[in-house]
Amino acid sequence: MALKIGILLGDDIGLEVVPECVKVMKAAAARTSLAVEWRELPVGKRGHELHGKTLPDVTAKALEATDGWVCGPIGHNAYPRNDPTWVMPPIRKRYELFANVKPVRSYPNIPSVHKDVDIVFLRETTEGMMSGSVVLAGSGEFQPNEDIAIGMRVVTRKGANRVAREAFEIARTRRRRMVTALHKEPVYRLVCGMFARECRKVAAEYPDVEFNEVLIDGFALKLVMRPQQYDVVVTTNQFGDIVTDEGAGLVGGLGLAPGLVVGERQAMAQATHGSAPDIAGRNIANPYAMIMSGKMLFEWLGRKRGEPKATQAAQLIDAAMERVIAEAKHLTVDLGGRASTTEMGDAVAAALVLS
Ligand code: ATP
Repeated sequence: MALKIGILLGDDIGLEVVPECVKVMKAAAARTSLAVEWRELPVGKRGHELHGKTLPDVTAKALEATDGWVCGPIGHNAYPRNDPTWVMPPIRKRYELFANVKPVRSYPNIPSVHKDVDIVFLRETTEGMMSGSVVLAGSGEFQPNEDIAIGMRVVTRKGANRVAREAFEIARTRRRRMVTALHKEPVYRLVCGMFARECRKVAAEYPDVEFNEVLIDGFALKLVMRPQQYDVVVTTNQFGDIVTDEGAGLVGGLGLAPGLVVGERQAMAQATHGSAPDIAGRNIANPYAMIMSGKMLFEWLGRKRGEPKATQAAQLIDAAMERVIAEAKHLTVDLGGRASTTEMGDAVAAALVLS
């Protein structure tokens, strides 16, 4: 049966980088005879224009019938900020997207703070200190008087367990097979304690994967000093928010930071960068992060749906991107080249044939 993948262009440079991602994914699917049904759906500014909502009902409903989707960045300036249907929180909630998977990888010829970095971060995204998403009613934050503000942090057994499990599943597909859990149990005994315990429990089910734990503050230092020692790193929401940005900074910044938001049944490919209105419409945005996010969706579908052709398609994209970067003939300006967004996308699609 064909995989069903939705295409959500998003705003600003989303309209430029998502088509490159889809072009490369389609080429990889054709090469591996992977059957995919694609469906483009309005979201963001387009959704607002057509249906008065950034996440139109027709899109929300159609996504339910997909195996996953690629989603461009949603702009902040394109429409009224008070739109109550603001895309991302409802998407995360409705489709139970519980973890953000963010690889951080250096390439020999791309300037970066460190060489030989290859880390996959997993950040839990449904709990922690995000007040709105953890309560049924009211807010997780309140201010009893002028001088005091109070916020709560939530860690559940289920939330910790499923993000840890995803980390071990990913580690199994990698050469080093190592998972590092980040927390601060000696101080936050209950919340970090629960997270750490669930990670240890899951680790016991994966004896083929090495497991260790690092305190979050020490990790911030070690990541900057010697990032090469890490493979798969899993942590709670706010710790993850910070260390994933730190990680992206180590290897060349936003244009090189792909992401996959994973759920129980579906996943969403979405790059870390925003909609970059400052460079939109000029065909100069770097499509790397979006293309590699699409690659991650194929990887995930290969694993979750037991579809080896999807895994193979992901491997082809990986190899093609490596080739294009090593040859350095079709790189965008932010990577030190002179190619346009479309030229870089075309080069990756063409390199699939050689992989
Ligand atoms: P948001 O508020 O939407 O999350 P942001 O404040 O993080 O966005 P971005 O839109 O990600 O900002 O852009 C930050 C800077 O990085 C901008 O100067 C932008 O041009 C640049 N940038 C972001 N993505 C890319 C890309 N794919 N290629 C080249 N430059 C990019």
